[in-house]
Amino acid sequence: MTGLLDALRSAVGAAQVLVDGDLSAYELDWRKRYRGRALAVVRPASTAEVAAVVRACAEHGAGLVAQGGNTGLVGGSVPDASGTQVLISLARLNRIRAIDAANLTLTAEAGCVLQAVQVAAAAQGLLFPLSLAAEGSCTIGGNLATNAGGTQVLRYGNARALCLGLEVVSAAGEVWRGLSGLRKDNTGYDLRDLFIGSEGTLGVITAATLALYPQPAARGTALAALPSLDACVSLLQLAQSQLGASLTGFEVMSAYALGLVRHHFPQLPQALPPAPWTVLLEQSDSEGEQHARSRFEALLESALERGFISDAAVASSLEQSRAMWHLRESIPMAQSLEGLNIKHDIALPISLIPRFVASTDAALLQAFPGVRLVNFGHLGDGNLHYNVQAPAGGDAASFLRDHEAAVNGIVYDAVDGVGGSISAEHGIGTLKRDELARRKSPVALQMMRAIKQALDPLTIMNPGRVL
Ligand code: FAD
Ligand code: ZN
Repeated sequence: MTGLLDALRSAVGAAQVLVDGDLSAYELDWRKRYRGRALAVVRPASTAEVAAVVRACAEHGAGLVAQGGNTGLVGGSVPDASGTQVLISLARLNRIRAIDAANLTLTAEAGCVLQAVQVAAAAQGLLFPLSLAAEGSCTIGGNLATNAGGTQVLRYGNARALCLGLEVVSAAGEVWRGLSGLRKDNTGYDLRDLFIGSEGTLGVITAATLALYPQPAARGTALAALPSLDACVSLLQLAQSQLGASLTGFEVMSAYALGLVRHHFPQLPQALPPAPWTVLLEQSDSEGEQHARSRFEALLESALERGFISDAAVASSLEQSRAMWHLRESIPMAQSLEGLNIKHDIALPISLIPRFVASTDAALLQAFPGVRLVNFGHLGDGNLHYNVQAPAGGDAASFLRDHEAAVNGIVYDAVDGVGGSISAEHGIGTLKRDELARRKSPVALQMMRAIKQALDPLTIMNPGRVL
């Protein structure tokens, strides 16, 4: 292994090859569920350095794990426990290379923090619409490698829809320069789409050309209280018909999920009293503040008349709008402060969500009395974060140890039953690898393995993840 370490040092300089000291920021995942040990943490600062690192790993047959902000939720961004894998951190590859306002594109290196890309676009009066609670630390490379979703998918699509071109270092250490800003390009297989969502198992993304949008003239945010999930789906339909493409966000939160936020962050203002379900709506309006507000009021009035909602609050300032989003975005943290939980990031046909939740809640409560269901998510995209927390006062770690597989079985069988997906936005990583092997069609798995074999014949790119 000294041969490999020497090769890594000559690729990036000895100071950027970390082998001693506390490397837990790189080796421990965000949820603290996976702690690995890296042979070395390597921090290249250019595409050429990334390529040299990959070539060194390929020559020595060493596995390598790409890492951006290490906010991934499926245990894909940290090395395994073997002490043989090289962790390649893209954090220093963080330049905005270009902005083309007329083409509505921005080219950023993989280690750019998402928020920095949003800010760079805003400085030109433009919008990069990808938005998620980890945006202060997750990176563009990680967003694309996981095909991240977030809170504006309803209007602008997920990371895949916002990427026009990629630069990638292949498993052989060659650079594919595919940084096109084209919106149309039908020249054979779409390699870009292959790398997006591949979770570091096919190559290392080093830069991307991203699609920008005009900044909307105004944004409106509202909270609504609803008696049932059926009512939430009805409100979504009504909002889509009245607001059309202006509807940019539709987030649902159960009473228990918001209750956790109340409990752990009592200082956060809550515009509405507790209700069985709370929906956060966001619209982007091209005409201005007043117009947005009156459209929201008309929508909420008709929802009230139809009995879909029991109460509502429209934000009247940017500060109030931020406070509403803050509630939604604090759920993952409140949940993690409450203790370990079993996460399910599922996609379902929107029309079947109320029935799915009612019957799956009942099945879980029957199998595990007292279990707590933390239910929230991007209802407008048919994406629920359907999480299961151990009964109050119990030992969460032993609940997970004893029951995680059975809980997953109940939830994922129900997901399969309605034609859903076991991963809407977080990916497969280590956490869902076995579940994927069990539930994806054999034909699909065989094609995925063929792609992996063709692009990474030595199996050095994030080994043991996804497949
Ligand atoms: P990492 O965690 O570092 O890596 C994630 C995966 O991508 C790993 O498999 C890694 O090997 C691979 N990877 C990273 N960089 C590269 C690269 N340059 N080339 C190739 N492979 C690479 N996700 C959503 O989709 N929607 C949400 O709303 C959302 N909300 C979140 C909220 C919180 C509080 C947290 C902690 C996470 C959330 N996530 C969400 C998950 C996570 O933030 C996103 O998936 C994010 O896109 C990961 O980016 P990262 O830079 O942290 O990647
Ligand atoms: Zn989400």
